[in-house]
Amino acid sequence: MAQEQTHTPVKGGGNPIQEKQTNCLACNKPIKKIRRYYRDGKFYCTKRCWKNYLEKNKAEAK
Ligand SMILES: [Zn+2]
Repeated sequence: MAQEQTHTPVKGGGNPIQEKQTNCLACNKPIKKIRRYYRDGKFYCTKRCWKNYLEKNKAEAK
């Protein structure tokens, strides 16, 4: 009878303005409130991800 609705995003894609950071910069997963690591004005899910991100930046710096 009732068809399952497909998941449609509430907001239209292609928004040029960046919203508040909600995803980890290292693994790009959504950050949960309980587990998050704040460093230098940015959020990561764990300290490990923060380090990963630093390493990544270092590697791409030169
Ligand atoms: Zn992460």
